[in-house]
Amino acid sequence: STAKIANIDTKSKVTFNDVAGLKEAKIEIMEILDFLKNPKEYTRLGAKIPTGVLLVGPPGTGKTLLARAVAGEAQVPFFSLSGSEFVEMFVGVGASRVRDLFKQAKEKAPSIIFIDEIDAVGRSRDKANNFQSNDERENTLNQLLAELDGFGTNTGVIVLAATNRADILDKALLRAGRFDRHIYLELPTREERVEIFQVHLKPLKLEKSVDVNLLASLTPGFSGADIANICNEAALIAARKKKESVGQDDFNQARDRIVGGLERKSKIISPKE
Ligand code: ATP
Repeated sequence: STAKIANIDTKSKVTFNDVAGLKEAKIEIMEILDFLKNPKEYTRLGAKIPTGVLLVGPPGTGKTLLARAVAGEAQVPFFSLSGSEFVEMFVGVGASRVRDLFKQAKEKAPSIIFIDEIDAVGRSRDKANNFQSNDERENTLNQLLAELDGFGTNTGVIVLAATNRADILDKALLRAGRFDRHIYLELPTREERVEIFQVHLKPLKLEKSVDVNLLASLTPGFSGADIANICNEAALIAARKKKESVGQDDFNQARDRIVGGLERKSKIISPKE
């Protein structure tokens, strides 16, 4: 079939420099990077390189970003698709899509497969709701399990998957040899928000009034994605005012707008900071 199975990025330009904070997660993911770059160091001792790694954390904390950074650092192709695409778009063909995806990734090895929202396919059977055929989802899940089990010791393909909720995943997915490694990402602390702001302020033309420490203090509960969003929103606000550069007042307005949006989505802004 000629239909698109996944988004393929052969030259990811994302590097670890683009990922702010997340110190622990970065250390753990660097191990995975080393598996890709120096597989022989491990296989020469008879070690079996882990194939499945689950990235667990709230929305917008950088799971996709981190996965892309591994591909960028290793300079290997990045095959990405989301679990909801499997089950929603490809009714009737989910299992064969999984097969094709793994086949392509093996042909291009070393490579990375990234499955966003794995819970859409991998929800535990008893917790799955019935809005669409369970058989279909289960076929897809079973194919995914079969592919993970079918990896040899040195296929050179690493499968990264992301979820907000590891607790609802089918236990079969988490068994040894499958997604048995978990990397946790959390909402950034104030210090981490400073670092994330620094990444996203870099491309902007700023007034001297902009205070990154103040910005970090004003944004408790914000994810990295929310911070990227506030920076762009501030630039849009300043541009609309025909200003030469973006000022602290533009950030304050952008923040109020985003907090309003977050409250509408009834997300919780941590009151602790
Ligand atoms: P979701 O669960 O909603 O898919 P995610 O955890 O995969 O979210 P990303 O898609 O990686 O989150 O993050 C969205 C955007 O937010 C990134 O492209 C980046 O611009 C910004 N971002 C998130 N986390 C960070 C971070 N730690 N450092 C810098 N930028 C970040």
